[in-house]
This record gives sequence, C-alpha cells and structure tokens, in this order.
Amino acid sequence: MPELPEVETVRRGLEKKLNNFIIKKVEVCRDSTVAFPTNKEEFIKGLRNSLIYKWDRRGKYLIAELKEGQNENTQFPLENSKNKGFLVVHLRMTGYFKFMDNSTPPCKHTRIRFFDENNNELRYIDVRSFGQMWWIKQGLSPNKIIKGLGSLGPEPFSKDFDTKYLKKVISKRTKSIKAILLDQTIVAGIGNIYADESLYNAGILPFREAQTIRMNEIVKLRESIVTVLEKSIGSGGTTFSDFRDLEGDNGNFGLHTNVYRRTGKECHKCGNLIERQKITGRSTHWCPKCQK
Ligand SMILES: [Zn+2]
Repeated sequence: MPELPEVETVRRGLEKKLNNFIIKKVEVCRDSTVAFPTNKEEFIKGLRNSLIYKWDRRGKYLIAELKEGQNENTQFPLENSKNKGFLVVHLRMTGYFKFMDNSTPPCKHTRIRFFDENNNELRYIDVRSFGQMWWIKQGLSPNKIIKGLGSLGPEPFSKDFDTKYLKKVISKRTKSIKAILLDQTIVAGIGNIYADESLYNAGILPFREAQTIRMNEIVKLRESIVTVLEKSIGSGGTTFSDFRDLEGDNGNFGLHTNVYRRTGKECHKCGNLIERQKITGRSTHWCPKCQK
C-alpha cells in the first residue's frame, strides 16, 4: 500500500508531467472508483474544461486544485482565474497513474481516463480497485465531504508534530505503539512499512503499550519517523513491489529496509534474526535484540 513517501513521489511526478493539463474528456471505466458525486455524469461534467493547477498531498491523499480551463477570457497570472474545486485521489492498495502521449488501448484494470485536447492521457489504473476519486465542486469543503481527510492528524513534517504533541496523544493509551502509528487521526501518512522501520530506528518494540514509552524514547521516535520518511522520499519511496511511478516503472524496488519484509534475515546492527508477527491484523517486523 502506498504510504506517505510513495504518495509524495506520485505527487511530484504529477506536478512535473501535468504542466497546464486541461481536462477535455473524462472516461469512467469503473463507476465505483468515483466516490463523489454519486452520479458519475456529474463527475465527468464537473471536471470537463478544468485546468489542473496544482497538486498537493495530505497524508495519503492527493489533492489537485482546479481552475477554469484557459479560453479567450482566461486571466493571467493563472492564480487569478476562477477556481473550479478539487479532484481528490486516494490510491489505497494498488492504484497508480500513468501518463501517456500516445493512444495506447486501456488495460482491463484501467478505471478512469483523463484526456487533454491533444489526446494526452492521464490514466488511473487499479488492479484491486480500492482506490477512490472525488470531485469536490467550488464552495464545498473536501474536509467535510471526505471523512478520512477531515479527520487526519498532523503531517509528520509539520511543526505540529512535535514531541509535546506525540507525548500528549500516546500517554494513557493502552494500545500498542505500532497501532498508534498506523492511526491516521494521530499522524497522517504512516502505514505498515514506515511504522516498522521507524520503530526499529528508535529501538522501540512495536508491541509496547503506548503509555509505557518514555520521554527520551518519544524524542527518538519522532526523529526516526521524520528521518525514515525523508530518506524514503529522497529515493522515490519505492520500497514495495506494487508501486509504480508515472512512467509505469517499479523504480527502486528492493531499496534497503532494516526490518520490513526481512523476516529470518540478519539484523544490520546486531546480526540477530528479524522476527515477524501480526499486530492488529498487520504483519509486524522487528529485531528482538535492538528493540526494547
Ligand atoms: Zn538488531
């Protein structure tokens, strides 16, 4: 599942590739991918003639800011032209975008296709089909319509995510620290890979009850989360096999991880074997010697 670094990599790719992309045609190949509005015709009509002005990311959500597509009345600079709401995307398990400047027939996992006037295509492909898209028209609030977006905790890189905050949200919690890190309302964007890697980096056992984590460990954990995520964004965030970048490449799959998917292999620090067990339904990897 794409986590913050992968989604950020996709965001950067979209921003680079889709320079002044004006949506002229939308083709919905699978209705259930459109989460909002419930009427897919409204989605198609609403997006038509929208300029994708800017791509943002919040947690694992991609948010495209839309402007009125250019015509003879377009005002420059573009930031002054009329807002047309937002296109919000969540890739979930296996969603990815592909940009193509030639007309290649869609594969059977193609869910939504966006075309500009030159027939360049931004294609959304999703094998397992859990991914979703929302068109939020101007005047409506994405945070209100998309519950998961509205309830997100702070971004790990924001100044709101400091040790004071982390201390506050984990004290008195009896859940495991792993479960806390996976909770998107506590901190946005961390999934299974980066929770395991951050806890290894901080030397904390994933099973520990959150309230038993001491202040010096909280400091270490916050630093570890930021470092691990930053490092992963720097390398394209492609630490797992399902990930595809905009060109459809699997990128740097096989990129160095310390514990994730390294069950039975030697710990890079101490040589002990990495263990694996499920915590709240998620495979959890750790070193029994380096993590306390
Ligand atoms: Zn170790």
